[in-house]
Amino acid sequence: MNCYKHHEIIAVSQCKGCGRGMCPECTDQFSIPSCDNCKVQQGKAIKGEKSIAKKKEVSSVFQELALTIIAGLIGQSFISSDSVSSPDDGPILSFITTYIPFLLSAGFVSGWYIINALKPKQKPNTIKVTVTRSDDNTGCITFILKIFGAAFIGVYVLPFRTTYNLWRIFK
Ligand SMILES: [Zn+2]
Ligand SMILES: [Zn+2]
Repeated sequence: MNCYKHHEIIAVSQCKGCGRGMCPECTDQFSIPSCDNCKVQQGKAIKGEKSIAKKKEVSSVFQELALTIIAGLIGQSFISSDSVSSPDDGPILSFITTYIPFLLSAGFVSGWYIINALKPKQKPNTIKVTVTRSDDNTGCITFILKIFGAAFIGVYVLPFRTTYNLWRIFK
């Protein structure tokens, strides 16, 4: 077998993609022996994967932002701001107190996402075996703790989380 590109030279290896023969020079061109055609296609595949990952990330960010705003609006309409504001408040303070219900509820979503992100990521190649027992309520306790945690850190992390999310969209 001769090189697919240099027909007069005897092949010393084969393309990992299509099996065509390659001379020493062509073999050393890439770290993995690959002909030009296969290398190009491999590059395209990687680019495609990247753009799919990017699209997924952007859509998950939009989902989170939408949830944040919806939660804020729900909080704003259900919690009366009269409980935290007083007529003596100045213009700045009354502006803040008016939107405290919005910020608390919207912050809860941010806090929730951050707490879930803190969880150690599972390796994709490990098989998780879950044994569910009827008297096992650890999941329930974790869930309640997460809700309290999210509510507690919510307002503080809201501006950072939102900034980070906007950066993720536009980077
Ligand atoms: Zn090839
Ligand atoms: Zn060659």
